[in-house]
Amino acid sequence: MFKGTPVSEGIGIGKILLLEEAKLEYTPHAVADPAAEAERFRAAIEELTRETRRDAASLRETAGEKEALIMEGHISLINDPALKGETENLIMGGQCAEAAYESMCDMFIGIFSSMEDEMMRQRAADVRDIKDGLLRILLGVKEVKISDAPKGTVILTRELTPSVTAGIKKGNIVGIITETGGKTSHSAILARALEIPAVLSVPNAASVFKNGQPVIVDGTTGIVIPDPSFDELNEYTEKRAAFIKEKEELGRFRGLRTVGADGREYELVCNIGKPDDANKVIEFDGEGVGLFRTEFLFMDRSSVPTEEEQFAAYQKAALILKGKPLIIRTLDIGGDKEIPYMGLEKEENPFMGFRAIRYCLKNRELFRKQLRAMIRASAFGDIRIMFPLITCAEELREGRAMVEDIKKELTILGIPFKKDIKVGIMVETAAAAMLADVLAKEADFFSIGTNDLTGYTMSCDRGNSNVAYLYSALQPAVLRMIERTIRCGREAGIPVGMCGEAAGNEKLIPLLMSFGLTEFSVSAPSVLRVRKCISKWTKAHADEVAAKAMSMTTEQEVSAYLATVI
Ligand code: PEP
Ligand code: MG
Repeated sequence: MFKGTPVSEGIGIGKILLLEEAKLEYTPHAVADPAAEAERFRAAIEELTRETRRDAASLRETAGEKEALIMEGHISLINDPALKGETENLIMGGQCAEAAYESMCDMFIGIFSSMEDEMMRQRAADVRDIKDGLLRILLGVKEVKISDAPKGTVILTRELTPSVTAGIKKGNIVGIITETGGKTSHSAILARALEIPAVLSVPNAASVFKNGQPVIVDGTTGIVIPDPSFDELNEYTEKRAAFIKEKEELGRFRGLRTVGADGREYELVCNIGKPDDANKVIEFDGEGVGLFRTEFLFMDRSSVPTEEEQFAAYQKAALILKGKPLIIRTLDIGGDKEIPYMGLEKEENPFMGFRAIRYCLKNRELFRKQLRAMIRASAFGDIRIMFPLITCAEELREGRAMVEDIKKELTILGIPFKKDIKVGIMVETAAAAMLADVLAKEADFFSIGTNDLTGYTMSCDRGNSNVAYLYSALQPAVLRMIERTIRCGREAGIPVGMCGEAAGNEKLIPLLMSFGLTEFSVSAPSVLRVRKCISKWTKAHADEVAAKAMSMTTEQEVSAYLATVI
């Protein structure tokens, strides 16, 4: 059994087709007629552009517009004036076209590969793809085509380039294995778009596996099983059938509203970390964003993002969401979220220490910039502001006062914003849950953060395996905190959502519906599954189950009982 990175869900069972790379060998030599050589080079560029255009058209049909754009990107790269111009200069200096182009491409590959940004590193793979394409044309090597692969083929290749993918016939290719590439590589994007199970970065796959070898590819777990046994084949055939059935069933929930079996309506939104993730919300049919974790904008860089950079990020998410709700949480650093350049002191008890709203209220300039960026961006969508780790009314009041100050300032300056922008809080500390009746009078909404609320209520650190048995949102103590928070919010007439992981927990969903939760915020790929879970319950039935679960004494009892009703 081998293990790689699972990037496209599903089970593929078939026979390996090893896509060996074409041998692009030549001897660099000096040319006698550089002008003619340059002409040969330009003709090859034109031929590659034509081929790539054909591939883009074919991808547009099999995978979709976004995927075709990857190939359109190749066309720009092939015709990049710097790459083309510098190659021609080398040719005019006497080098053969192959050597000139290869050395220029290798230079770009070196630059892109050394960059930190994953997207830029991806450009290196793109340049490698076009380099091979051009050398193939110059050397007259026949292209490996997979369009003739028979049904039940599992492709194995070092790297799945877009030009190879363009030839895939969806019905025939049942799995993809590669030696390189991660979750965000083009190989992964294309495999997902074609809905073909794929496992990337399986070490030495191309030298270990053989052509025609039977294989199972599990794109959900990343497991690859060559020469499967009879039992393994049976097991995975069943898994494949279950996966296909589940997918079809979930597909029926796409485009529908989120309603219980009695027609009661709920909001089903998503958690995101970057503005681009808003595209995933749309792709997976989410109804908006219930938590934008802004700390990701502060990570993987060496200084605080400016107000303008933040404004651009929030505005981008708002524009992608086209008026759907967008709850942006103010910076939640400290605890397990470290940002080196912010110089947080090492503390004895970081989870109890100087973090989140506490840090922001003491670093006003930083906080002001973030709030200002959010409020300005509110002119472009339904943006709402949320404070993390609230434990007392003063923190909420101080934060709200800053929001009001900024609104006044923007009004004077004539800068547009949403006048009635909502300001809510995360209920993720035991203090906030106990004080929910008071806080509900001053917050516009609550969102329950069960990831932290569970830890704080049970006084247990989820990273500590010795106490992991306590870390469960189904603990009666945590359930009481959740019930209380929702009840207090309801009594005060404010909406209550949940953005902790528990919002997608099938066992907990009937309880949350019974308590009166109105908004569920989950990861984008969970949207249809959660919509389906919610659709199974009427309020009356959920009430019955909740009453029984709440009468139980231990987490084990609650969990075992809920397992019987879902
Ligand atoms: C939570 O605590 O439940 C939450 C959603 O916030 P985070 O996971 O970012 O701490
Ligand atoms: Mg939290």
